[in-house]
Amino acid sequence: MSRKKEEFEPIKKGKVGIYSCGQTIYLDMHIGNAKTYASWDILNRYLTWKGYDVFHIMNITDVGHLTDDEDQGEDKIEKEAKNRGIEPMELVTEKVQNWYKEMEKLNMKRHNVNPRATGHMVEMIEAIKEIIKNGYAYEVNGTVYFDVMKFNEDHEYPKVGSMDIEELKAGAGGRVDKEETEEKRSPIDFALWIDADPEHIMKWPSPWSKGYPGWHLECSVMGSKYLGKRFDIHTGGVDHIFPHHPNERAQNIAMNNLDEEPVNYWIHSEHITVEGEKMSKSKGNFYTVKELLGRYDPEVLRMFFASSHYRKQVDFNEKVLKNAEDNLEKLYNTLWNIDNAEGGKKKNLKRETEKLEEKFVEAMDDDLNTPRALNEIMKFAKKVNKNLDNEKEILEEARNKIQELGKILGLGLELEEEGDKIPEEAVELLIEIRDDFREEGDYKSADDIRDVLSNAGIILEDEGGKTVWKRT
Ligand code: AMP
Ligand code: ZN
Repeated sequence: MSRKKEEFEPIKKGKVGIYSCGQTIYLDMHIGNAKTYASWDILNRYLTWKGYDVFHIMNITDVGHLTDDEDQGEDKIEKEAKNRGIEPMELVTEKVQNWYKEMEKLNMKRHNVNPRATGHMVEMIEAIKEIIKNGYAYEVNGTVYFDVMKFNEDHEYPKVGSMDIEELKAGAGGRVDKEETEEKRSPIDFALWIDADPEHIMKWPSPWSKGYPGWHLECSVMGSKYLGKRFDIHTGGVDHIFPHHPNERAQNIAMNNLDEEPVNYWIHSEHITVEGEKMSKSKGNFYTVKELLGRYDPEVLRMFFASSHYRKQVDFNEKVLKNAEDNLEKLYNTLWNIDNAEGGKKKNLKRETEKLEEKFVEAMDDDLNTPRALNEIMKFAKKVNKNLDNEKEILEEARNKIQELGKILGLGLELEEEGDKIPEEAVELLIEIRDDFREEGDYKSADDIRDVLSNAGIILEDEGGKTVWKRT
């Protein structure tokens, strides 16, 4: 909100409440979504490592997010469900299951709660009643709008982000359709409850109409419910700087009658781009996590995420992943070198290990500078490789420190035991079976085999009709 770095002070000593805007769950997660979630995973891990008791919420949007962020268009979930000829909740069930599986593969720490919008309809209706009672919302023909200008008289709007309310009004005037403009007191008023058309599938009874909630409402309601009326950190992507987060803040203040700010720190991650354009589900220029996990070890993706700062845009291509893979290999080589070193008499790595932690903390305390923190680990690993004649105990401490700090960045850094390895003949046999499935057109079974192998650390690459494999 201040648009500058601030020192972090928790509301309650030793505790941190974090709310992260999560997935609108109608397609598979893409690498951009995953990078954003990884940033908040690192935030959670780092604060936990520093001794805070972290309570982390990430919501799942399963209703109310329209194809246009400005209350127009179709519900994204309903639209995709119609495309596939299935129930919206059937689509949501499938996608939520995939999401959990992929989040786990990507070594994302479980959130304390993943609340879903459809599970909080009663609370949302109650919140709208409160906002109307407090004078910040009005109903027209079964739809309820938030009265932004009235809110702005008593509290500032938008406040999150650097926009000005007059500019927003001028911009919104040309965008909304006529019918809506006639209903709204101001073009930047946004919907809290929307009267559903007869053909709309996902709708609920309410005092105003059979309808559904506006997209922003769920985050206000679920944030307050699980973290309290005021909490520490709210995260999202830069696409949330407007309108999602200003609207959420306004609703929080309006429904809870707050004099203070509902959230102390809003932080936003920059987007992954593809050839300079934002990677997005609606543009179709995305790489899914599922697809990439068939070709790369999940830890490579985590290495890629950690290697760019959350507030910096990063252009995605195979080269950046190859680079991450190379760096990861270097770290593993160091771990292997340590485990296989005989050790000597030198002691110089002892102080270096302490210095590594100091530098890591300094980087992470500076607005979660993960690329700098990672670079410190990489430089340290290089030093270790040249000093394997240190005392064995000191080498082991160095290894433990690399693992401990690497894990904060979401890496695994555990060497596989020889006995855990799936034997070569078994891999070859599974690949043959997979090829048979593919010839028969049974791609689902072929994919299942690819997944099983990928879980066992075997990566398949299809090279001109032939499948080659490697261990990660
Ligand atoms: P969505 O499902 O589109 O609401 O997005 C889920 C989360 O992913 C939000 O926090 C978005 O800000 C974030 N996100 C969407 N696209 C990208 C991208 N290209 N790069 C990074 N984060 C993204
Ligand atoms: Zn949200």
